Formats: sequence, C-alpha cells, structure tokens
Amino acid sequence: MRLLILGGTSEASVLAARLVGRETIAAVVSLAGRTRNPALSALPTRIGGFGGVDGLRAYLRRERIDAVVDATHPFAAQISRHAAEACAAESVALLSFTRPPWEPVSGDRWIEVADIEAAVAALGAAPQRVLLTQGRMQIDAFARAPQHHYIVRAIEPPEGLDALPRHRLILARGPFDRFEEEALLRNERVETLVSKNSGGAATYAKIEAARRLAIPVVMLTQPAPPDVARAHSVDAAMEWIEAGAHPACP
Ligand code: NAP
Repeated sequence: MRLLILGGTSEASVLAARLVGRETIAAVVSLAGRTRNPALSALPTRIGGFGGVDGLRAYLRRERIDAVVDATHPFAAQISRHAAEACAAESVALLSFTRPPWEPVSGDRWIEVADIEAAVAALGAAPQRVLLTQGRMQIDAFARAPQHHYIVRAIEPPEGLDALPRHRLILARGPFDRFEEEALLRNERVETLVSKNSGGAATYAKIEAARRLAIPVVMLTQPAPPDVARAHSVDAAMEWIEAGAHPACP
C-alpha cells in the first residue's frame, strides 16, 4: 500500500512513528512548510503545498497513492477540503484522523462562535483586557474592536499585529501547564480569553486556568469537516490503514 499522510500535527507524528519499518506500507508524510524547523519523522517527508486540488490529484496519480490519511489540524479546513475532492476524483481511499474537540465542563464560561468575526463581536462594546491565543488566524480582524487591550501570545510575531492600537505581544512556545497559564491570566489581568477549540491535551491548560479563575472564553468552534471516514485515535487510524493494506480474503 502506498499511503500519503497529510501532517503538521502531533497526531500525524504519532501515526508516522507507528508506520516506520512496516514492509507492506510505503508511507510518506506531507507538511505545508509553515514551520521553519519542523519536527521530521523517520518516514520520507515532502514539504510544501501541492498546488490546489489539481496539484494534489496529479501527485496522487504520479505517486500511485492508494490511500490518504488527513491528519491535519481541525482548523486547516482548506487542505482537508482539497483532500476530499482530490481523493473522490481519483478514487483514492481517504480517512480523516483528528482529535475530538473539547467539550465544556461544569464551571466553564464559554461563548461559542463560528468564526473570527463572531469572536470580535462577542467581546462586546465595553473595553476589556483580552488574551488572544488563536495563532496566526486573522489577528487584524480585532482592529474592528480597537477599544480592547489585546495581549497576543504567539510563537512568532503574527501578521496584522500593527493593526491593533493597544496590544502587547508575548512570544512564547508551549506547552504551558495550568500554573503557568493561571499566572499569565492573573499577571496580565485578562478578562476574556479567545481560543480555537483545537481539542487535545497540548493546549488545554489555558482552558482549565480560565475555568479556575472564572474567566469567559470566546471559543471558536471547529469548521465542519468534509463527509469522509473518520478516526479519533491512532489505533482506529491504524485499523483503517491495515484493513486496506491486508484486504480480507474473499
Ligand atoms: P489550510 O489553510 O487548510 O491550507 C492552506 C494550503 O496549505 C493548502 O491549500 C495547501 O496548499 C497547503 N497545505 C496545508 N497543509 C498541507 C500539508 N499537510 N501538506 C501539503 N500542503 C499543505 O492549512 P493551514 O491552516 O494553513 O495549516 C497548514 C499546516 O499547519 C497544516 O499541515 C496543519 O495541519 C498545520 N497546523 C495548522 C493549525 C491551524 O490552526 N490552522 C494549527 C496547527 C498546525 P496547496 O493548495 O498548494 O496544496
């Protein structure tokens, strides 16, 4: 079986590690090339976009790919859409492998919103101190609510930051634990947190910290995924791959 893993997440890395040394499965990992020093797996890796749906279709044909596992981030909606279209057109099996979203628990004060415009609107008219942790996503959209003071935490300075009249940039790379997140929320006197609902453990500490301090969270819900086979664990993804690699005897 020739397998393409669309990666850029810890889920993809864990899956890739499980496939190293499998003789019947020739897997290649694909990265978008956004990170300067990506964590590479022991599997062959290609880096960079395919060139839209047509480019991905051409790649699937050229490399004679039998199956694709889309293990990209739940908010990487475009590549997932492209994968669904390209695989359907080329009759290639496709599995979407993502972590499940977080669910609110008792004590959480979430305001769930569908997109960044709704997140800006949800902050309201009264000025407040807002922590933005949604990554590269449209920081400049918050310029439409210039009354707030924004604390922006990111790994690299995000584009569009200068559009925010009142802001402070904190450059830091996670993971952060709950105590670090509580300290940040307290020290910066944060009144509202903006977050993507990314799911998984790596970035959950800020959500726990906000709950403990009764701070509201404007939570961006995950974009609707394409209608394809889904797995939420590496075991389930391996099962799907192995079913294709060793078809049941008739
Ligand atoms: P996106 O908006 O869905 O995709 C934009 C374009 O980037 C795609 O059309 C494709 O270019 C290229 N691309 C994306 N993922 C690719 C991959 N794995 N291999 C080859 N090309 C890829 O994606 P995004 O939100 O910018 O995310 C880019 C990468 O960062 C993904 O691998 C994702 O898993 C990872 N990531 C994203 C987030 C997030 O919040 N969005 C968070 C953590 C990690 P072409 O059209 O030219 O093929």
